[in-house]
Amino acid sequence: MSKYIFVTGGVVSSLGKGVAAASVGAILENRGFSVTLMKLDPYVNVDPGTMSPYQHGEVYVTDDGAEADLDLGHYERFTHATMTKRHNYTTGKIYERVIAKERRGDYLGKTVQVIPHVTDEIKDAMRRVAGDHDVVIVEIGGTVGDIESLPFLEAIRQFRQELGRGNALNLHLTLVPYIAAADEQKTKPTQHSVRELREIGISADILLCRCDRPLPEDLKRKIALFCNVDVDQVIAARDVETIYEVPLMFCREGLDDTVLELLNLPRYDRDMSRWESLVSRIKNPKHRVQVGIVGKYVELPDAYKSLNEALLHGGIANDTKVDLVYISAEEMEQGSWPRELFEVDALLVPIGFGERGTEGKIRAIRFAREHKVPFFGICLGMQCTVIEFARNVCEIAGATSAEFEPDAEHTVIYKLRDLLGVEEMGGTMRLGAYPCEIPEGTLAHKIYGETSISERHRHRYEVNQKYLERLVEAGLVVSGKSPDGKFVEIVELPDHPWFLGCQFHPEYKSRPTEPHPLFVSYIAAALEHHRRKLELEARGEDPVADKVAEVTGHAFSGDELPAQVPGAAEAMAGNGGGTSSRGNGSVGNGSVGNGGVGNGGVGNHSAAGEADG
Ligand code: GLN
Repeated sequence: MSKYIFVTGGVVSSLGKGVAAASVGAILENRGFSVTLMKLDPYVNVDPGTMSPYQHGEVYVTDDGAEADLDLGHYERFTHATMTKRHNYTTGKIYERVIAKERRGDYLGKTVQVIPHVTDEIKDAMRRVAGDHDVVIVEIGGTVGDIESLPFLEAIRQFRQELGRGNALNLHLTLVPYIAAADEQKTKPTQHSVRELREIGISADILLCRCDRPLPEDLKRKIALFCNVDVDQVIAARDVETIYEVPLMFCREGLDDTVLELLNLPRYDRDMSRWESLVSRIKNPKHRVQVGIVGKYVELPDAYKSLNEALLHGGIANDTKVDLVYISAEEMEQGSWPRELFEVDALLVPIGFGERGTEGKIRAIRFAREHKVPFFGICLGMQCTVIEFARNVCEIAGATSAEFEPDAEHTVIYKLRDLLGVEEMGGTMRLGAYPCEIPEGTLAHKIYGETSISERHRHRYEVNQKYLERLVEAGLVVSGKSPDGKFVEIVELPDHPWFLGCQFHPEYKSRPTEPHPLFVSYIAAALEHHRRKLELEARGEDPVADKVAEVTGHAFSGDELPAQVPGAAEAMAGNGGGTSSRGNGSVGNGSVGNGGVGNGGVGNHSAAGEADG
């Protein structure tokens, strides 16, 4: 029988409950146990697929096509657990099941109630993931005290009672803030939070106390006294430099031993050397590169969580610290050139929905293509790559995506043929893992070292193969297709140091200990670009200023380069001449902050709707 750990959070949100749960998984795996994790989210949406990244951060995609909470990404990166649709439940998804049963008549005429029907459904969901895992870690989203989390908390209260002592435990993440005026760390918020849990019948067994400085023994003792636990059940969860240090910190605090003792599990040896060497590589990089991400959600890095992690992993493999520079696609759309574009060592256009900012992304891609800056386009980034190539190399004026302009003449990207006539938003994209075949002799083949791969997808639009012949004739290499030839999955350019776009999301499968080959190779190319830049500088040249002058016609020396370099009208004229009128029309909110959040009602947007904050 599997043992259960329930992870709740108190005091405030954003304490890193997902990383904490994932780290508990990691340290238990390290002690020889098989673990799985799941997330219960109290909000009413059936899944986060239709939510704006501004509301919820990234939507994580599993092999079986779940659009899930980003914490499932942490679980897969920190442990060997495989996440599926069964590993993330929301209030909406639970109610969907309860209501379906009610309509079928399964409740035999009974009044359907939160207790027991909803709570039973939650308990069933927790049982379904157990399999033959030794330990199941269940994270409850939100903060204790939220109205909507009550049915979930009641379900874990009941479930723990059923499992019995020694088979389940409650782990509560709280905050011990430092109050500067008193020069003291305060335990009161933790005491209140634990009391709040107790009021609904849940006693916390282990307290993870988030703090920004060491938690002295006497404070631990005080917390233990007031919160009804032993002192070794009070764990200091101190701020650390990298999230991958959290499992090490937990071991230093003895959390693994405490958990094993409370769950009556044997204490196999601990060997954290793999994590130690990982953290040491992260902390002592030999090199450093800057990667520019040209996107829409630039002020909210959580929107690109897995991508940021995958880039970091690519860096680890190259002994390189990767600094992420977010470049606003919307600002680029307005014609000037952000200084960072010229300074970074590689450019990337990530996931995206809706038209806003796309003309800026296309300008950035043209710049990367023409100036041989390593470039990676992912999903929408790949689609923009094809549009840019169609417009500026194949001279197909007005080439665009049906997502931005459904009635355009040249939709080189159009709606997935399988989805024609499907207007519903939730869960209707091409989702999850699909196979892809890679011809030999391509960059993709060199990177993967295989001719057949599988990657995760989440898209509603695809490359229109009507244009493929023209694109290929002009030099675009299709280096990945679905086995039936129906979908273009990877494109690349041969006469470029590193220029690749993929329809899928490789970032979801990258792990710190097993970095994804595309990211490893991309960061290696960025490093090479950086080295060349240093060489030029050593020869007394100013590569950044030279590039600015070449592109914009404005001469600056690197030091006096302004944040925004005015664009020259003739340089890269008209974004390929075929810019759709709507393309520029959608700009007009100067700052990204306004453009994003202020405007960002979900569903406010025409075509894709999902996540177009
Ligand atoms: N909006 C595009 C599509 O639906 C790209 C999606 C993405 O970047 N994940 O096809």
